[in-house]
This record gives sequence, structure tokens and C-alpha cells, in this order.
Amino acid sequence: TEANTSAEGGTLRMGTNATFPPYETVDENNNVVGIDADIAKAVADKLGKELEIVNMEFDSLIPALGADQIDIVLAGMTVTPERQEQVDFTESYATGIQSIIVPEDSAIATVEDLADKTVGVQTGTTGDIYCTGDLGEEHVQRFESGVVATQALVNGQIDAVVIDNEPAKAYVEANQGLKILDTEYAVEDYAAAVKKGNTELLDQVNSALEELKADGTIDEIIANYIHE
Ligand code: GLN
Repeated sequence: TEANTSAEGGTLRMGTNATFPPYETVDENNNVVGIDADIAKAVADKLGKELEIVNMEFDSLIPALGADQIDIVLAGMTVTPERQEQVDFTESYATGIQSIIVPEDSAIATVEDLADKTVGVQTGTTGDIYCTGDLGEEHVQRFESGVVATQALVNGQIDAVVIDNEPAKAYVEANQGLKILDTEYAVEDYAAAVKKGNTELLDQVNSALEELKADGTIDEIIANYIHE
């Protein structure tokens, strides 16, 4: 095949961290699947590009954008002021909530109750950023994924896990004896991110997302995975 040098064609390389159900997980064939993969595929189709998904640690995603190893991040990534200094975010395509997971018999019932406890988080996530800011370094234990953090909770090594609500539901379902508190730590916007200054791709992706929202595709994709 011939190299395609036009704006259309080529590959859209999406970075993600596939430990985040139902936004991204790895299926039995080792493919990354989930809401973000489906949205990215729909966006790539609109752009006339092939989608390639690169699975990496969550805290490697922004550096990988900066190093041109990937073109776009879709990873249930929350828009924060600090990240906005490093990347350009698209329009938001979903809402997330930072939830608190505790053992069923835990005395922890509110955000305030976390004050003198040890809380598990996924490294570099907003759960990490908020808990480190609110509770102090000494009260936070960082893990490579929410799955590993939840395992530490099950093993009694930590008192709670602060993590996004949808993966929290999946982790609680997969383990005995855990519950999610009704109280919310924070409500957030998820967006895709491109390298800072890549306005061409940013505009293309925003147009695609706008169309996919208007025609119901985004709602449909999310409803395929999240059944309220
Ligand atoms: N929404 C959280 C964040 O952006 C967690 C994302 C993730 O773990 N994939 O920090």
C-alpha cells in the first residue's frame, strides 16, 4: 500500500490504561475494549483514520503525548487545571465521580472520616491528587491500578480506596465484603487529550465528538456498558 500523506488517512494512536472498567479493559483476546475504545473508533472513522490503541500506565499517558508516542488519550481522564497546562483537552464526553470503597463493616461513613486513615489510590489519578492534598502523603498509598489497590483493601493493608465510580462498582462486584459509600468525593468531567498546541487534531476531534453527541452515538456507546 502507498503511504498516505494527506490529512485524511493514516493512524490515530490512542493511549490508555486498560485497568478501568467499563471505559477500558483487556478482553480474552488481549484487545483493549470499552467505552473509550468505542468512542475513539467512532472518532477515527469520522477522521478517516485507522485506530491503534496503546496500553500503558496511567501516569505515562501525558508524557507519551508530549513525546509523540501517541496522538490522543482516552482513559477516563479527568479535566484538571494542572493537566490543562500540559495537554489540550477536548470537549467533555462523560462524567465521573470519585467514590470511596470501604469494607462492609468499616466505621468510615464520610469523606471527613478518612482524615487519619490510610487510603489507597491509583498513581497519578485525581483520587491520588485529592487524597494527597487533603490527607497528606503519609495517609496515601499508591498502586499501579485500582485492581491492585482494591486487593490491598481486601487484604486489610489499607482502610479505603478512592477511585472513579464505574471501576469502583466493578471492583466491589468482583470482591466479597466491600461497599461504596453514598457520599461522593468529587464530580468530574472526562475528556480526550491531545498534545499541547495540536489545534488541528483538537478541532477535528471536537467536531467529531459534537457530531457523535448530536446523533446519539456517544449516549448509545455509554448505554452499552453502563446500565443504570
Ligand atoms: N479519572 C481519573 C483521572 O483522570 C482516573 C482515570 C484512570 O484511572 N484511568 O485521574
